[in-house]
Amino acid sequence: MTIFEKIIAREIPARIVHETDEFIAFHDVNPQAPVHVLIVPKRVIPRLAESAPSDAELLGRMLVASREVAQKLGVVESGYRMVINSGRDGGETVPHLHMHLLGGRHMTWPPG
Ligand code: IMP
Repeated sequence: MTIFEKIIAREIPARIVHETDEFIAFHDVNPQAPVHVLIVPKRVIPRLAESAPSDAELLGRMLVASREVAQKLGVVESGYRMVINSGRDGGETVPHLHMHLLGGRHMTWPPG
């Protein structure tokens, strides 16, 4: 069981900002920007590279819901960045697909 499943099961605390029956959004414990929230599906998909065509609607709904999360956190006008790290070279450290929503400062490119 990953740490995200424990958060979903309320076994460990998290600062939850949004939740539906399909996914949950909570503040990252090690924020990389003034706003750093993780959007995590309740159904475990280990990583984007292991997603299936049947996951398309769920992932699409999560992306669209980022707007609502950004609105709640006051960054929808200023802008924000969505990131998915998949696998070793992608920098994924928790093997449960998640989307990072980062905002509250100007993002640079390329990422590190
Ligand atoms: P990844 O590197 O894309 O897999 O992102 C994993 C993220 O999970 C990192 O940004 C971590 O800071 C974050 N994280 C790890 N454990 C916790 C936790 O218990 N609560 C909230 N965020 C966490």
